[in-house]
Amino acid sequence: MSGQAVRVGILIAGGGIAGLATALGLARAGTRAHVLERAPEFGEVGAGIQLAPNALSALDQLGVLDKVTKDAVFPERKVYIDAVTGATIATIDLGEEFVAHYGYPYVVAHRVDLHAALLEGCRESGLVTLENSREVLTAENRPDDTVLVTCADGTQYIADAVIGADGVRSKLRDGIIGDALVPSRYVAYRGTVPTGVVGADVTSSPAVLCWLGPNMHLIQYPLRGGRVYNNVAVFKSDRYSPDHDDWGTPEELDARFAGCCDAVQNAGTYLSRDIRWPMYDREAADTWVDRRVALIGDAAHAMLQYLAQGGAQSLDDSVAIVEALVGAENVASALAAYQDRRLAHVGNIQRLARVAGELFHIEGIGRHLRNHAFKDHDPTAYANLDWMFMPLAKAPTQRRYPV
Ligand SMILES: Cc1cc2nc3c(=O)[nH]c(=O)nc-3n(C[C@H](O)[C@H](O)[C@H](O)COP(=O)(O)OP(=O)(O)OC[C@H]3O[C@@H](n4cnc5c(N)ncnc54)[C@H](O)[C@@H]3O)c2cc1C
Repeated sequence: MSGQAVRVGILIAGGGIAGLATALGLARAGTRAHVLERAPEFGEVGAGIQLAPNALSALDQLGVLDKVTKDAVFPERKVYIDAVTGATIATIDLGEEFVAHYGYPYVVAHRVDLHAALLEGCRESGLVTLENSREVLTAENRPDDTVLVTCADGTQYIADAVIGADGVRSKLRDGIIGDALVPSRYVAYRGTVPTGVVGADVTSSPAVLCWLGPNMHLIQYPLRGGRVYNNVAVFKSDRYSPDHDDWGTPEELDARFAGCCDAVQNAGTYLSRDIRWPMYDREAADTWVDRRVALIGDAAHAMLQYLAQGGAQSLDDSVAIVEALVGAENVASALAAYQDRRLAHVGNIQRLARVAGELFHIEGIGRHLRNHAFKDHDPTAYANLDWMFMPLAKAPTQRRYPV
């Protein structure tokens, strides 16, 4: 080890939603945090993010709820629609009854606004050190109850605890679990357009629209006070191969969407075709912790996005790990307690996200059976969602997986 290693308390690898939320949570509890981010600047890519009540509760605890919701849209319902026929399959009512039930609404926000609120909170706290262009490679527990962190440029840190918030391709996960990314064979294209371009009224009674079709789906909702319209198109590529990158092309997108109703085909014109987002997840892990090193967010539990819970669970992780660490006498025990509180629960969500994907994308007779099975769905039957949506602060029984 070099004598030049920088001594820090809690080191966080990754300045995305999970890393910054954790740094902010620690700072609000009066604890310093040191964040290392690989990118040359702290920032977010992509456009919209759906934030369920559990996410809003976490943001409230972090003191940034008002900032995040200032320009967010409060959809009145989430509607699942058959992408071929345009017929409604099921609706979740997100109105007053929903808000009364969970104590928080369901909102859609711009990712940049969410990230900026967390970053600003960290900066204003005076307790968070933010370093860019630092790619963390390894975190090694040492016999003296510290962790040696090594970055790609050779910089080293000695920390009391290390939190791996380095996303789906986490380097720190390699050191704890060592598993591989699981390709889904699905790819996403995203696009935001000014609402005026859409040609339909999408703001007076805002909704999250989920168009479900054979091996594809499309999500649409207004963003930023209704000024822009967010579109995410997802489809399965028949050309997938781990050996080349030439799969999930815009031509395949058009072919996949050709059998859909006009509203879905039109949305194809709103997408940016130059960036494709291949979808990966991870198997639910048996552990996220190695003594003084713990994983959170996508590093711990990257999931397919079909339940719109990856970011929300990352925020819940942040609240849980801060509560475990602050005031703890034994860091390793605190991190183990964080894992006990979260691992089984989030593993269930990872597994259910895959099942939701199967249900979204089912073809042939299965598609008709799915639609039929949901025909009497009650838009206010929230009991089935409680285990995911209920704020972390509520009793665990309200968050139990329904079996
Ligand atoms: C298409 C799509 C739609 C989604 N929709 C929703 C939704 O509606 N609602 C929801 O809740 N979730 C959604 N998600 C999931 C959500 O985006 C993620 O779960 C969330 O962004 C995870 O945050 P994170 O901080 O763990 O990881 P990331 O956001 O990936 O952040 C990781 C950070 O670590 C940095 N980094 C990476 N490696 C290193 C390293 N070695 N050293 C230092 N820094 C490093 C990265 O640059 C990045 O800044 C969606 C995901 C996708 C793909």
